[in-house]
Amino acid sequence: MKDKLRKTANEWHDVLTIEQFHVCRDKGTERPFTGKYHDCKDPGVYRCVCCGQPLFGSDSKFDSGTGWPSFLRPIADGNIDTDLDVSHGMRRTEVLCSRCDAHLGHVFEDGPQPNGLRYCINSTALVLDPDPAD
Ligand SMILES: [Zn+2]
Repeated sequence: MKDKLRKTANEWHDVLTIEQFHVCRDKGTERPFTGKYHDCKDPGVYRCVCCGQPLFGSDSKFDSGTGWPSFLRPIADGNIDTDLDVSHGMRRTEVLCSRCDAHLGHVFEDGPQPNGLRYCINSTALVLDPDPAD
């Protein structure tokens, strides 16, 4: 079990933009095709914008046509948490950063085989690290 990173809402406001706070701490959703990574094919590791934890590798990113960055799998199972989300009259599985509990997006069961999963993630919650070895 990793150490959790915990901050108050005010502390998060100090380090995040309004949009980042809305998505990550207030479980918001960016409008499709507006995020900076939905169409990005650059190699690297996508980290949590709140705490820097590696979340998804560019090698598992695929073009889902939804307008949000979509991934087949997390970079490591322990790096994300999932939770049942019944808001907005839907039953969805929420995806969170396991370190700081940032809301990242949702995982759906309509992805490509063999896993059939589509991690639908807000660009706003991510920052692409093009050279993660450093
Ligand atoms: Zn995080």
